[in-house]
Amino acid sequence: MQNKNRFKRLVKNNCACYLGVKHGISNYCCLQDGPCVFFGQDDPLPHCTYFENGVLPKLEREYKSERDVETKPKTAKPRVNCTRCGGTFSANSNRQKYCEKCRGKARKENIRIRVRKFRQKDGSM
Ligand SMILES: [Zn+2]
Repeated sequence: MQNKNRFKRLVKNNCACYLGVKHGISNYCCLQDGPCVFFGQDDPLPHCTYFENGVLPKLEREYKSERDVETKPKTAKPRVNCTRCGGTFSANSNRQKYCEKCRGKARKENIRIRVRKFRQKDGSM
């Protein structure tokens, strides 16, 4: 019931189809041409397509634009220069040295260098 009351308040304040006491009527829905589903007694989990598609997204947009949520990226990744090709990329960690493209190549190169050193030390090649 707690939940339902919360939505009732949302509907009352934000739904364009809702007409209430202010309009001299009680819990009337223009779309239903009858009582608003959220104010019905029998349905514990009422749902309204207009509220879901028209009201909630609008509230979300308002909420986010007021707080600049959507304009800024959620995680500000540091821009790093790739040690190999010099191109900038957004690193997931501070230890990341190579861009996406170079990471695989760099690993192979490192292996080749290691192998070469190993063979040189061994002296058999
Ligand atoms: Zn690179």
